[in-house]
Amino acid sequence: MNQASDPSENESPTAEKAAELQAQQQAILRKIGRARIRLLVCCWTLPVYIIGIWILLDNGRGIDTFMFVYMALSAGFALDMSLRRCPQCRQQFFVKSILLNLITRQCVHCAVAIPAGNRGNAPLDQDQQN
Ligand SMILES: [Zn+2]
Repeated sequence: MNQASDPSENESPTAEKAAELQAQQQAILRKIGRARIRLLVCCWTLPVYIIGIWILLDNGRGIDTFMFVYMALSAGFALDMSLRRCPQCRQQFFVKSILLNLITRQCVHCAVAIPAGNRGNAPLDQDQQN
């Protein structure tokens, strides 16, 4: 009997499951990382925003819409970021007590880290081919 054996069959199912879980965790961490970058970009553009307001005021134009859009964006990103949960400990990734920690790349509870160098990669929501 000449049975072709699949080498992957020898892998224990628990190890496979653990690897899958780890991949899921990495995907969540990448999303957390992107939420952080979005809010950071908002903070970095604050000087541009201030200059924009100044120019608009100088031209005698209304700043209501401009201000509202910027505030809404910042608030939305901050809310999104604060609601992100750590895949490992299930607690809020950036929030300890009431402070949102913008600088950290690690979970403030269990210190699991966001993987480095994930900016601008393909969307993770795409279906994976099997
Ligand atoms: Zn954690």
